[in-house]
Amino acid sequence: MSALELAQSLIKIKSISPEDGGCFELIETELSPLGFQIERIPELNCETLLAKYGDSGKVFCYLGHTDVVPSGPEEEWTSNPFEANVIDGELIGRGAADMKASVAAFVQSVKNFLSDNPIPNFQIWIMLTSNEEGEPADGKINTLMDSLTKQNQFIDYCLVGEASSSDNVGDVLRVGRRGSLSGRLKLIGKQGHVAYPQKVLSPILEIGPIINELNQVIWDEGNEQFDSTSFQISNIDSGTGATNVVPGHLNMHFNFRFSPESSQESLKERFIQILEKSKCSFEIDWTLNAQPYLTKKTEFLSIIQTALKMINGKEAIIDNGGGTSDGRWVSPSGSEVIELGPRNQTIHKIDEKISLADLALLQEIYQQILVETNNQAS
Ligand SMILES: [Zn+2]
Repeated sequence: MSALELAQSLIKIKSISPEDGGCFELIETELSPLGFQIERIPELNCETLLAKYGDSGKVFCYLGHTDVVPSGPEEEWTSNPFEANVIDGELIGRGAADMKASVAAFVQSVKNFLSDNPIPNFQIWIMLTSNEEGEPADGKINTLMDSLTKQNQFIDYCLVGEASSSDNVGDVLRVGRRGSLSGRLKLIGKQGHVAYPQKVLSPILEIGPIINELNQVIWDEGNEQFDSTSFQISNIDSGTGATNVVPGHLNMHFNFRFSPESSQESLKERFIQILEKSKCSFEIDWTLNAQPYLTKKTEFLSIIQTALKMINGKEAIIDNGGGTSDGRWVSPSGSEVIELGPRNQTIHKIDEKISLADLALLQEIYQQILVETNNQAS
């Protein structure tokens, strides 16, 4: 199967997180004949595939996922999101950019590379999860990473195939990601009749100045590698439904995307200080979704930049913006983690797509990265 055929076959499988839906079987069928040793590791409600080639030298691991987010209303798509049609040179479908085409491009690049270099001086791993996009409660690759660490199995270079590129394939790399800290606030006032303001404490009126202050705080200035920490509110609700009742409580969901210049402790402390200015009492449930991470070593970075210079004629810029990725589970063991994948304009949107030219270019870049790794690894 070519990269395009594999990408199309994968898109036709409706693998909404945490379901793999048979994507791993297709990929195994491509990798087994090349000599990969393949394991399937069940997690809570998802699965991880780990394919390994070679047994000596540095470990190069491509990290990706086969799950996708829901399509949204299918009738709004130019072409059905699970038919994988090519229209005017563009492959349309859920997962075209995030990230089934990237997986297909990598598989093809490995096939080409191994046919020229059957005995590379490094090991090639492919690690795929069926729950990158979904809820942590369904399982994530962190349990597999923990067991690899216990067995002293170390990934030297980790290439995450997420859609990092902006205007052209290979123009942007990520070498780190900001952390993510979420909270659910319950602000507790005193319910009563709207006509008796002295007898009530309105959490709605109390939250006004608090939101204003939260919106104006400069949590940190960021640093050379990271944007400053940002604060957003995603949901807010209160009220009994009656027009003559002041409600007794208010719920608010919020999130920090934080640079390494802040910590979860420092953010919690400042948030609570602001809350304490209110007359209401409060409860907060915190969830740390991800710690920030940064790859400081530059060996793998220089391999990738050399490959990009060769194919694109120039190096990529480094930008650590965007959400978090599964790279956060690999980075703590000391691996060099770099994200390089398709353009990200259409990810998670209606009419997600990748052009056939981009798919071919991405495959060429991945192949050149394998060639450069072989040149430099020892
Ligand atoms: Zn993704």
